[in-house]
Amino acid sequence: MSESEKDLSMLLQKDMLAEHYRRLEAAPETGEPVVYTFVPGNLTELIRSFGALPVLPEINALQSAMRGKSQGYIAAAEKAGHSEDVCSYVKCDIGMLKAGNVSPTGTRLPKPDLLLLSYTGCYTFMKWFELLREEYRCPMVFLQIPYQGDGEQSPAMRQYVARQIRESLIPALEKATGRAFDEERLRENLRMSAAAEDDLVAVLQSAKKTPSPIDAYFGAVYYVGPIFSAFRGTEEGLAYYRTLRQEVEGRVARGEGPTTPSGRLDRQKYRLVVEGPPNWTHFREFWRMFADEEAVVVASTYSKVGGTYDLGFRHDPADPLGTLADYCSGCYTNRNLPSRVEMLARYAEEYRADGFLIHSVKSCNSFSAGQLPMLREVERRTGIPGAFIESDLVDPRYFSAANLKNRLESYFQMLDARKAGVPA
Ligand code: SF4
Repeated sequence: MSESEKDLSMLLQKDMLAEHYRRLEAAPETGEPVVYTFVPGNLTELIRSFGALPVLPEINALQSAMRGKSQGYIAAAEKAGHSEDVCSYVKCDIGMLKAGNVSPTGTRLPKPDLLLLSYTGCYTFMKWFELLREEYRCPMVFLQIPYQGDGEQSPAMRQYVARQIRESLIPALEKATGRAFDEERLRENLRMSAAAEDDLVAVLQSAKKTPSPIDAYFGAVYYVGPIFSAFRGTEEGLAYYRTLRQEVEGRVARGEGPTTPSGRLDRQKYRLVVEGPPNWTHFREFWRMFADEEAVVVASTYSKVGGTYDLGFRHDPADPLGTLADYCSGCYTNRNLPSRVEMLARYAEEYRADGFLIHSVKSCNSFSAGQLPMLREVERRTGIPGAFIESDLVDPRYFSAANLKNRLESYFQMLDARKAGVPA
């Protein structure tokens, strides 16, 4: 996609990201504290309320992959002894660190003043931050989020998380930043989050229209970027989501589809629901495999990994710590398999999907465990045929374009036959 073909919101986001990395580079001089944290269960409003800047290692890894840098970083990490089986995000981050900690946009990343580990079900997160703690010799604080094994968060689980935030996270942030907790500032950030979340949900749900004005997987990666990372609960985030919503509403009014690497997708032959994260090393090539077949994704689970806002959750400034507990608990990967199946089946129905696709990535057990039984169960409940494809997040060795293309082409042919009433 050339700059001239990009949506205004994409350009806005690019500038926001560049400015964020610039501020991070300047942090040792400006004295802005820096907190490293992960996307699922991130507490950006709280971090920002202390005047600290968040760094999200997964975002650095995927941005490095989109710029073709991950292969070298992964090779360096493996050479240093990290196994081929380790999540490629971790190896990409470690390789980047060893190469001088230069961010994807070319600026230098500062050392963390604090590692804030919000544990939403991925054991790798713990090991990853242990490696960073050894490297940086900095403090780490751990927030334990109980898994929603019974499909919901009990009041005791909620209190347990809120108490940890009050009794261990806030003191750790006060110590690392040298600033006192300001509850009013946190409430203000949460107010901005909720407003941006309203706009994001309107954008995601616009895919119920025909033609869909968005691609809810590849395009949604851009749409959720700011809210899943450093910009939730900020003025810039608020402005971004207002712009994005207007842009999408404009497309709805004109009956237009989304911008894709193959041009605007107004003719949409297949409406798909997708489960699993995308591949980042060949992101545009992967997207083109769908767009060239006139396939649009109308709902995805990956676009909920940093918050399930479309299920109704909003950050609530009236109950700052309780709402942060609710947010962490409700992250997609903290939900049990029946809840995930329920979500996918509901998407298939509400978004009138023709097909359902699982993209399984080698790296991520949080996503991949249980995907095959989920596929069968969603098929059984919806009657919609599913397909299963595989690659990886940021390790290009696991992206086989020919295999994926073949698999997708056969799947689309099968959907055609089904539409035409030919028995499978
Ligand atoms: S295993 Fe999955 S959830 Fe865990 S760090 Fe890797 S990509 Fe993230």
